[in-house]
Amino acid sequence: MNLKAVVLYILASLLCLASAALNASPIAPDSSFPVFEVSAQTPGRIDVESHMGLLVDSTRALAPDQVMAPAKVWQTITRRSPNFGFTNDAYWFRFQIDNLGQQDAARFIELPIPFIDDVQLYHYTAGQLKTSYRLGDEMPFAQRVVRHQNFVMPLNLAPGANLIYIRLASSGTIEAPFRIWDPTRFYEANDDDKLLQGLVIGILLIMIFYNLFVYFSTRDVNYLYYIGFVASYLFFHVSLNGYAFAYVWPAAVRWNSIAISTFVASSELFASLFAGSFLRLSAFSRPAHYLTRALVIASALLVALTFVLPYSWTVRVGAAFTIPICLTALALGYWRWWRGAKFARYYCIAWTTVLISLSVLNAGKFGLVPSNIWTENASQIGIVLLVLFLSFTLTDRINHDRTLRINAQAVALGHERWARSAQEALLKTKEEANRELEQRVTARTNDLNLTLDQLQLANDQLQRLSSVDGLTQISNRAFFDSALAAEHRRADRAKSSLSVVMIDLDHFKLVNDTYGHLGGDACLRALAGLMRPRIQRVGDVLARYGGEEFVMLLIDSSMKDSMALAEGFRADIEKLAIPFEGRTIRVTASFGVASGIPNQYLSPQALLAQADKALYQAKHDGRNCVRSWPTANRES
Ligand code: GH3
Ligand code: MG
Ligand code: MG
Repeated sequence: MNLKAVVLYILASLLCLASAALNASPIAPDSSFPVFEVSAQTPGRIDVESHMGLLVDSTRALAPDQVMAPAKVWQTITRRSPNFGFTNDAYWFRFQIDNLGQQDAARFIELPIPFIDDVQLYHYTAGQLKTSYRLGDEMPFAQRVVRHQNFVMPLNLAPGANLIYIRLASSGTIEAPFRIWDPTRFYEANDDDKLLQGLVIGILLIMIFYNLFVYFSTRDVNYLYYIGFVASYLFFHVSLNGYAFAYVWPAAVRWNSIAISTFVASSELFASLFAGSFLRLSAFSRPAHYLTRALVIASALLVALTFVLPYSWTVRVGAAFTIPICLTALALGYWRWWRGAKFARYYCIAWTTVLISLSVLNAGKFGLVPSNIWTENASQIGIVLLVLFLSFTLTDRINHDRTLRINAQAVALGHERWARSAQEALLKTKEEANRELEQRVTARTNDLNLTLDQLQLANDQLQRLSSVDGLTQISNRAFFDSALAAEHRRADRAKSSLSVVMIDLDHFKLVNDTYGHLGGDACLRALAGLMRPRIQRVGDVLARYGGEEFVMLLIDSSMKDSMALAEGFRADIEKLAIPFEGRTIRVTASFGVASGIPNQYLSPQALLAQADKALYQAKHDGRNCVRSWPTANRES
């Protein structure tokens, strides 16, 4: 089978390369041998192409003798490419090589399709079987006559006609592009081919290892998918061209028979994984994400199935599956790019390159473009370009992501800087406001304190004014009345005695008349000045009761003590000389004393009334004397 041909065939159909028309009516009846001439002058490589007789053995049971029987009807292949697709039939081919020389000529017959299951060659000359080979990829590689990845069968062509019969049978496709080689030319061409294959394999290996190291440093899973894809493709490639069987697993016949389908499926698996992950479809579009998911699951299943189901089945499914995978990967890439994901551009270029190169290869195969070294190797050129572009895609996206990150960081830094300066400004404003507030509070507090002080001062003054007599600067009558009421209650509780002494200046009208009102005032001030220093006990009060009357409240003072105190004052007043305008004024005063322990009968008013009565008695008794109210005292 030829997987490439299958893939390309479907691709070509899709790309409208009109290949279908070229495959119409492939076979026509034939009875003669197509002839190839060989001499020293003929080319070193002769492509048999479709110039062969063909016999299809549906039974797969015909022996060489049977197919060579004259009754057997052979056909001529008219199509250009000797490609028969998937079939279970055995295919017999025949052609004739005429050796124009005089001696035997050494030639190789090469079948450059390394995965045909069973290859048999019969070489007849002069009616005799001269050489026969039985090869195929179901036998260990060591059995090959020429150690080469393709089937290479040496022939010693006798002068004259040599008949070649070749039987091919395979579980995959049957392809028969035989070549007749001059051995020297074969090895030259082989060297060129090895160099080219080595180049492709080398590039793929380098990309695998290079990206593996990149993966180790970036830990980006896309690199793993990429490496998986490239490695799968590499193994697919070397399985397909026979290198793997020749150099990697020459004895693993069973594995070799399924390896192609396994690697096709794993290539598809990694391509799907890569597409889904690289294009970030899960965040971009749910349906697209589920589509790639479905492709991933299907191809993973296919990988597993290649180990259990027949190769002919899995390889067909795998080959058919490449189309939806390629087209999906490409379409999603362009969709992503169109919707603004710049990192998808190299991805698109990569897959487009593959499609173009495969189309070119296909076109070359079907003669739509001239076949040359470029068109023949288009698939390899395409895959190398794919691998290179995909690697470049990964790098490009890392750059893209880094640019985004750097920009985002710069923006974030700008925001942070702005936020910090705003915060600083706010803090400064707050501090200023606080300071201002503090200053204002301090100022207000000072004002308030000042006002309070002034208020206190005013209050004190008011208090003093309301309790002090303006002329004499001793307590006034109001103060005396409240003091008497308070001390009366206290003495009542303490059962201590309380005395009230009323003092009235004698003939004061006369003083006023003689010295004037100011002279009278001077007398009143002098009397207050005389008595005040001597009424200092806590609770005792000296007050001006009105006009030229004074009153004394004496705490814890008995009648006797109070009379004695009054007598002392009376005597001192009598001796007092009051200077006024160069003259001396002399006055006397009368004293009325009341004393007792307060009770419900002896109220403050009663005490005052008794003192008043005693004073009245003193006036009556001739003035300048001290009298008490004994009757009231005794009553209490
Ligand atoms: P008696 O001995 O009977 O008390 O005679 P008196 O002249 O003192 O009589 P009375 O008590 O009736 O008169 C009081 C006089 O005291 C009347 C008034 O002119 C005078 N006086 C009252 N208050 C003041 C005052 O504040 N200043 C002065 N200079 N004289 C006053
Ligand atoms: Mg009086
Ligand atoms: Mg008087």
